Amino acid sequence: MKLFVQRGETMTFACIVALYASLLSGCNGAKQEAQSEKNTMPVEQGQLATKAIPAPLETPRRTVDAERAMRYVQDQVAFGRRALGTPGHKKVQDYILAKLKDEKVEQDKFTAKTPVGDFEMSNIIAKFPGTKDGIIVIASHYDTLASVKNFVGANDGASSTGLLLEIANQFHGKPNPGPEVWLVFFDGEEAFKTWSSSDSTYGSRHLAGLWEKDGTAKKIKALILLDMVGDKDLNIENDDNSTKWLRDTFMESAQTLGYQSYFYKREQGVDDDHTPFLKLDVPCIDIIDFDYGYNNVFWHTADDTLDKLSPKSLQIVGDVTLDAVRRINIR
Ligand SMILES: [Zn+2]
Repeated sequence: MKLFVQRGETMTFACIVALYASLLSGCNGAKQEAQSEKNTMPVEQGQLATKAIPAPLETPRRTVDAERAMRYVQDQVAFGRRALGTPGHKKVQDYILAKLKDEKVEQDKFTAKTPVGDFEMSNIIAKFPGTKDGIIVIASHYDTLASVKNFVGANDGASSTGLLLEIANQFHGKPNPGPEVWLVFFDGEEAFKTWSSSDSTYGSRHLAGLWEKDGTAKKIKALILLDMVGDKDLNIENDDNSTKWLRDTFMESAQTLGYQSYFYKREQGVDDDHTPFLKLDVPCIDIIDFDYGYNNVFWHTADDTLDKLSPKSLQIVGDVTLDAVRRINIR
């Protein structure tokens, strides 16, 4: 992923000034909006008006097992590099499929043309039933950066993928009391040479194209992208490109669970796997901590290792995501 304000691999002075200004201007306090769906009470004789009451949130609340999610992260890192064309990439693909063996799984396989040749890629989609029309997508990318030596992507790739596998456990055998939930493991997020609209997000661009053609895109109520969510020092960005009501929904969930201090200290635009879906008017949010180590110093380096992560961060992001799904259910 990339910040919109960023050009190349180093920050320009203008960019730093812009970031500083956004910090000074403060966080984007989320509005405490009432639940949008209204249940109307039946009007009885003599009653003057109907009363709107919020639809109940699903109870009990779902929560992730963060220790188990962290083990999934460790398993992926143990495969080593997971860039396209490496043995680790095949291993993580097989690992995801094995973990999802009891679920309804589809693969979107395609050949991607990249600046360094053609690669076979595969998006993995696990579908969980719901009780209403529509689809909620929760997504992560599982490939890792190719261009940095000894890059194992503990945070960038493994953290969100491990958490998504744990989220799968939470929906296993328990239909969502709302839209269907589809968990999408994107391939080919990373650029092969330099991040650009044509060299990045290969998997999400392919799936968005497919879902535009077959009408699926129109059925998606929300797409929640998780990326770099394991940092011990968790600071989830307030991504300007993400859909406003989803950003508000996530803040409501964070506040409900007492985790609001981990969200939205910084507001800026992020280009990531949600971009192709935003272009199709799918409501999207990117839950990303793009401040990995001081000044993002561990990002895309061989220092992106397990010791920088904590299960607590996976707990926070996992539980806030599951709470947000409850709120999307009743929209
Ligand atoms: Zn990356």
